[in-house]
Amino acid sequence: MKPDHLFDKALKLIPLDAEEGVSLYENAPLAELMFVAGKIREIHNPGKNVGWMIDRNVNITNICFSQCTFCNFCRKKSSADAYVTTIEQYKNKIDELYSLGGDQLLLQGGMNPDLGLGFYCTLFRKLKEMYPSLKLHALGPPEVVFLAKKERVTFAEVLLSLVDAGLDSLPGAGAEILSDRVRKIVSPAKASSGEWLEVMRIAHRLNLPTSATMMYGHIETVRERIEHLISLRELQQEKPENNYGFITFIPWPFQDEGTRLREEMGIRSTYNGHDYLRLIAISRIMLTNIKNIQASVLTVGKEIGMLSLHSGANDLGSIMIEENVVSAAGSGNRFSADALRGIIMEAGFEPQRRNQKYEKFDPPIPLRRD
Ligand code: SF4
Repeated sequence: MKPDHLFDKALKLIPLDAEEGVSLYENAPLAELMFVAGKIREIHNPGKNVGWMIDRNVNITNICFSQCTFCNFCRKKSSADAYVTTIEQYKNKIDELYSLGGDQLLLQGGMNPDLGLGFYCTLFRKLKEMYPSLKLHALGPPEVVFLAKKERVTFAEVLLSLVDAGLDSLPGAGAEILSDRVRKIVSPAKASSGEWLEVMRIAHRLNLPTSATMMYGHIETVRERIEHLISLRELQQEKPENNYGFITFIPWPFQDEGTRLREEMGIRSTYNGHDYLRLIAISRIMLTNIKNIQASVLTVGKEIGMLSLHSGANDLGSIMIEENVVSAAGSGNRFSADALRGIIMEAGFEPQRRNQKYEKFDPPIPLRRD
């Protein structure tokens, strides 16, 4: 397959199939991939704006039955350092978030067998009562599947209860690679790829804003990466026309430090900057119907983050005031708001602060209601 022919199709936003995607991934020169992906980025997002935001990751609990082999954040209930975050701790963390001008929590954590749907609904209501302007970007498809099975209700019933309690948007957490071959090795107790996609399908019908992710660079093949992208694109195609669907796609590499995947199975992260840029560019080319591609500057650092803006990405994500899952596996990148803006400008773009829906956002600092 000739890259030029595939690039022509890509520039017309004609969806490429798996063979075509694999061919480009494996054979196209990186400079050409970056150039074409940059052109497609301009079709979706004209101008020089690059998005960024301030939010805070709070882990609800680190107790998790799933014990994914790439995770060294989770603990068993009996572990000395197992926890469930208390309301007092939320208050301190949210006060700090507000003092920095942010208003969104990314609430994630383990799948704790003791915490049911009622716990999450009560927690969301309490947080919204205390901080009416707070946005909750919380949980993810694996938690929805877990809660549905625990409570013997449907995925839609779980989502509707969470939205009623205050959920504003659903992160694409737990996608890893949407291949059951891969999931049996890296996250065997978690939602299957079909379940992950089904939760997102329902979320899109309910018009709940969502994101799509990929955690790559472990045991997956290039074809499985491409098939993952095609699964996302096909699901996005199904969403009701004016509904949010997947607002963004965020890939990040496997961080191997201290994980069972590395310690017990000898799997090292295959991450390198060259391949990350190739993945960002291929994602922009394959995902013809997802407007935003976010580079994970938290995991890849400043230089590769800057180059990714010339490879099809149009967003550098959040300064992420607290992040425990990726950092527990070896990622040491941290940026202040000024530093993140500086990275965007140094790369030749204009920083544009945004909210979770990728709308321009420049908020006043809100007050807490006690
Ligand atoms: S990645 Fe998430 S679901 Fe998997 S073990 Fe860690 S906390 Fe649990």
